[in-house]
Amino acid sequence: MRSTFTTRDGSGWMPEYLSAIDGATCIGCGRCFKVCSREVMHLYGVDEAGEILGACDDEDDDFDGELNRMIMVVDHAGRCIGCGACARVCPKNCQTHVAADQVAA
Ligand code: SF4
Ligand code: SF4
Repeated sequence: MRSTFTTRDGSGWMPEYLSAIDGATCIGCGRCFKVCSREVMHLYGVDEAGEILGACDDEDDDFDGELNRMIMVVDHAGRCIGCGACARVCPKNCQTHVAADQVAA
């Protein structure tokens, strides 16, 4: 576990890594995806019961009629650099971030 991080000018910086998105609250607006430079999260389709059907690689895929809505899923958490941009644009406050000094190396 690291407790000291610095920016280029030597000032202190604590990354806040995206660890989870609440699928019950997320509206799949895509704002977090657009601001993230690291491909940490992607849109997934869910059915009426809230079960994940799969990644929405094809915009027109309705998962054989099972698609109810889309949500953002953190599927590559290890790529996150903890910049916090996704949290700033989320209109539903449905993301969980963890401070870098709380994450095991
Ligand atoms: S904190 Fe930054 S790098 Fe991590 S998921 Fe959010 S926008 Fe991407
Ligand atoms: S910005 Fe928030 S509500 Fe929109 S897709 Fe991302 S996590 Fe979901």
